[in-house]
Amino acid sequence: MVTFDFSTLPIVDAVNQIIVFSAKQNASDIHFDPRPDCLLVRIRVDGDLQDYTIIPKQYERNLITRIKLLANMNITENRLPQDGSVKGRFGDLDLDMRVATLPTHLGEKVVIRILDYSRSLQGIETLGFSKDNITKLNKMINVPNGIILVTGATGTGKSTTVYSILQILNKQETNIITVEDPIEMDIKGINQVQVNSEIGLDFARVLRAILRQDPNIILIGEIRDSETAKIAVRASITGHLVLSTIHTNDSLSTIERLLDMDVERYLLSSALTGIISQKLVRVLCPKCKVLRPTTLYEKKVFKTVLDKDINEIYDVNPKHCPDCHEGYHGRIAIQEVLLINDEIRDAINRNDLSKEELRKLVYQSDVTTLLEDGLNKCLDGITSFEEIYKAIEIDDNLDEYYGAKHNNVEENKAPSTSKENTITEKENVPNNKKNNKEDIKTDEEEKKNTDTSTDIIIPKPIIKTDDKPNITANDKDEKKETKTSPEEIDNKKIDNEEIMDLLTLPPVKEDSTKTDKSAPLEEELLQIDDPNKEETDLI
Ligand SMILES: [Zn+2]
Repeated sequence: MVTFDFSTLPIVDAVNQIIVFSAKQNASDIHFDPRPDCLLVRIRVDGDLQDYTIIPKQYERNLITRIKLLANMNITENRLPQDGSVKGRFGDLDLDMRVATLPTHLGEKVVIRILDYSRSLQGIETLGFSKDNITKLNKMINVPNGIILVTGATGTGKSTTVYSILQILNKQETNIITVEDPIEMDIKGINQVQVNSEIGLDFARVLRAILRQDPNIILIGEIRDSETAKIAVRASITGHLVLSTIHTNDSLSTIERLLDMDVERYLLSSALTGIISQKLVRVLCPKCKVLRPTTLYEKKVFKTVLDKDINEIYDVNPKHCPDCHEGYHGRIAIQEVLLINDEIRDAINRNDLSKEELRKLVYQSDVTTLLEDGLNKCLDGITSFEEIYKAIEIDDNLDEYYGAKHNNVEENKAPSTSKENTITEKENVPNNKKNNKEDIKTDEEEKKNTDTSTDIIIPKPIIKTDDKPNITANDKDEKKETKTSPEEIDNKKIDNEEIMDLLTLPPVKEDSTKTDKSAPLEEELLQIDDPNKEETDLI
């Protein structure tokens, strides 16, 4: 821990030093925790809090006041929570921070969040998406309408991903409008609107106004309520690309959540283009990570999920090194990118769809699940199995979902479909799914050892011969991608007269007539609050 000598160091300088140090450590937050005898300063680096310094009690008040002044807060109010922000130059850094206070029984606790959007500016390829996922993502954002959702818990890098996508879409010929709370990064060339609920300017109200502003792309900071969800879906179905975030764990729970929000099934099934789910895991320190044999449990998970026999993986070095914190350095996202295919679309549309059915469809579709992506990053030596295990609830019923994804072609398979022809022979799978870096030596060893090891350690994936055709990871890409190509999604929407009837809008060609239908759209959206309204009233 660092010690400041307050007999010579002014409080102003101490605050600056704490902020600059934290920012240089890539800390996401600085905590000032009142304790009975001191103010403890902790910083969050790579997701974990570390003690940084202790401020003697007699300087606590002045230090907190200094931070409140910086953040434009009321310094005389210490009984109510306050929010503020700081933007400015500290040392040689331009920083953007959000500050929040909380009156605890031992004094005011202050947390400074350091907003770091430098990553968004580095481009989407720097965010850890696998090659497959980048391809899917590009397909998604090239569809001119529909809704794309980025999901994950708070602090999982949703905003970074969303802003990175916006950077790609930000072109001269497009009108992009955002509604955010708060606006986290200024983006040149984009119209950004800050929600202000104190005066009744909420997401839904801004959205209605945005729709009269001839937008091409709309970013909704977060879908928090049913009304926003409904307008978002309707906006996307009428010729806009809507990008938003939602606080769910994965693709599957996102669909469930939207249905729980009473978004109409027929609209959702048509509108949803794709879902990007992400979580952050710590990155193994490249300087000191070590190879170690896998445990029985790990072998089982790798075999079941990736259909690979893995005997060695990288892990933290218990001795660490000066360059890392407990063997880790920085964080990376693990992602699940689900491009909605026709099967899932049809399923969403069905009232009798059970969660189990939906789960199977999602798991067995052309998706690299969070777990698969995480395990692949583990095999690449980027992160440890422990990090994946902490981030993702590893389902006890792995076999049921992943087993069918592999090549368990058994007796009562469904009648042959075009997809079934893509099933690869079992022995080819490890080669086909090759995605490891050369730094993993286990590949060769794995092959050598396969014969001797499989029968001892690896419980074979339980073969669930449900009716879904099995698709192996490689082949499914080509087959399914064509199925959900942007053109098809477009055509599906344009051709879907039923939906248009329900919307009581004339079937339209997306781009050419977008401005023409803005009038009925507005009215329709303004009616959305009244669920009993007859559809014919909407025109
Ligand atoms: Zn290290």
